[in-house]
Amino acid sequence: MAGRILVVASRNPGKVREIRGLLSDLDIEILSLADFPGVRSPVESGSTFEENAAIKAKHAALATGYPCVADDSGLEVEALGGLPGVRSARFAGDGATDEENNGKLLALMRGLPPARRSARFKCAVAIGSPAGYVETVVGVCEGIIAEEPRGSLGFGYDPVFVVPHLGKTFAELDTSEKNDLSHRGKALRAARPLIVRMLGVGG
Ligand code: IMP
Repeated sequence: MAGRILVVASRNPGKVREIRGLLSDLDIEILSLADFPGVRSPVESGSTFEENAAIKAKHAALATGYPCVADDSGLEVEALGGLPGVRSARFAGDGATDEENNGKLLALMRGLPPARRSARFKCAVAIGSPAGYVETVVGVCEGIIAEEPRGSLGFGYDPVFVVPHLGKTFAELDTSEKNDLSHRGKALRAARPLIVRMLGVGG
């Protein structure tokens, strides 16, 4: 049935593209906050990915009047006690570029042997209804921090995150290869039945 709308509560084109790809076979129209210029982003005041995803999904659903899906995600590096974690987007400072964040991470990791370079991407996906109801699921992808950036696809920390069994960084995988393995792919596959139920579509 056409006409069911789901809003991705993000203005990050990289994320919106990945989420669209993962839900493209559902018979729904997928918008993003780029289609709602008047909707402001909420303060991400949570201390976990789950809390922040729920804040974003609920805020966007109440503001747009449509069911919304939000993700909150980031990188946890073992040798850094879980940093950058919920600070992933602003690790090198507010408004930092991906290059600056990756540069800071690689500088902090310089000289560490492979055995001490373990990291994981985590993604919480929350589905919010316009009535204020929210459900959250989580996906995790384990990897290793590279010594130097490699690859030009993807976004964020993709060029420095190596998938051990492929020996490639996320930035060397195309969107569909990345979606098969990624934290966001796993979380969205877990969220799918919740989305199908909330929108009342077949899936
Ligand atoms: P958020 O927009 O608050 O969820 O911040 C997520 C941040 O974590 C992004 O800006 C990236 O720095 C990082 N991140 C999350 N998922 C990915 C990914 O799939 N690849 C690379 N970086 C990611």
